[in-house]
Amino acid sequence: MAFENLTERLSKAMKNLTGRGRISDEDLQETLREIRLALLEADVNYATVKKFVANVREKAKGADIMNGLNAAQQIVKIVNDELTETMGEEAVPLNKSDKIPTVIMMAGLQGAGKTTTVAKLAYKLKQEANARPLLIAADVYRPAAIEQLEILGRDLDMPVFSMGTDVDPREIVKKGLAQAKENKNDYVFIDTAGRLQIDADMMQELKDIEKIAQPDEILLTVDAMTGQNATATAEGFADALDITGVVLTKLDGDTRGGAALSIRDVTGKPIKFVGQGEKPTDLDVFYPDRMASRILGMGDMLTLIEKAQKEVDEEQQAKQLQKMRENTFDFNDFVDQLKQVQKMGPLEDLMKMIPGMANNPALANVNIDEKQFKHMEAIVSSMTPAEREDPELINPSRRRRLAAGAGRPIVEVNRMIKQFDQMRKMMNQATKGNFGGMEQMMGG
Ligand code: GDP
Repeated sequence: MAFENLTERLSKAMKNLTGRGRISDEDLQETLREIRLALLEADVNYATVKKFVANVREKAKGADIMNGLNAAQQIVKIVNDELTETMGEEAVPLNKSDKIPTVIMMAGLQGAGKTTTVAKLAYKLKQEANARPLLIAADVYRPAAIEQLEILGRDLDMPVFSMGTDVDPREIVKKGLAQAKENKNDYVFIDTAGRLQIDADMMQELKDIEKIAQPDEILLTVDAMTGQNATATAEGFADALDITGVVLTKLDGDTRGGAALSIRDVTGKPIKFVGQGEKPTDLDVFYPDRMASRILGMGDMLTLIEKAQKEVDEEQQAKQLQKMRENTFDFNDFVDQLKQVQKMGPLEDLMKMIPGMANNPALANVNIDEKQFKHMEAIVSSMTPAEREDPELINPSRRRRLAAGAGRPIVEVNRMIKQFDQMRKMMNQATKGNFGGMEQMMGG
């Protein structure tokens, strides 16, 4: 996972402070030194690190014990705020033109992920905003770039404009834009050519395309895995082009996090999206605050909540809540609940988003067996409708029948029925307004 090492180092740096009411100057010095090393090791730009540590020092000095936070909690909060600020505070949305089409031009080195990102972003707009994008294939240098875009366009059902590799990219852009106007596409993506390094020819070509296309957005694509080089590359592009946003790709493979933390600070350009995999759906809006809490291992609660909201059928939830209140929650509802949880994604990933869990050593050894879900479903499907609605009916001989029917050991059937019973009791209490247990869990 991204930022693994940084998370570990930072939480170690701050753990030393736990349990202290006040922080002595020496404690603070030591913690700041650890934070500095953690950031440098994560390949964060040197000047950014210097500024970061100075700001944290300033805020920590000025902070008195407040809001009931203890010293360690305050430092965590200060570091969290500073991380957020370094990455740009707020998510910055994609620019949009008042006229159609909105033109989005890509820039970046070869292999950074431009072509992949064009497909991901166009697909995102199509799914979320019903957009009708046209993709222009203007990368005439990288072997197979055009074909790659054409295949992606076909798979995702989006038109691609191409003229092969023998035509000048400027010409391709002109013709592509004309076609977009004619077909009333609302978005145009221009996939441009990169080189292995920044060079004059590439920059000239990009500048020419910028002039021709007058893009509303120039998205610079950089590969997070290249760390400091990503930052230096971004600086080079930002000097020559009017970059409006950055897409940080391959964050799924970046265990350090240096680029995510430096780019905004060094170039002044906001990271707008992050690529977290090779599939068309692996592109996310970049939220500095969420990223900060993820780096600190506080988990990404907001993402979890959003995911839950997206996947969970609200009407069904309301119905189930009603049933819990009336104490008529049965095995049919139990299976529905299991299915909803499964839809949210691999359980291990979800657990990591819970504050305190990402770095919890306990989780390292936990292997949540998705098969268990399937087994539970199998047991429930061996029940008669009457048994599903009235779990009290399920006596020992019926349990043996269920075990045989599902091909599972009887202990498993017993365990599941017991869990179900406990869950029902807990739900019943919770819906009566007795949240005592829950508050304790949340540390309230
Ligand atoms: P381009 O030369 O800039 O157009 O780069 P491509 O779009 O062809 O990407 C280069 C390689 O990086 C391809 O193999 C992509 O599948 C891969 N890639 C792009 N974005 C991501 C990402 O966010 N995560 C991972 N793991 N791979 C990516």
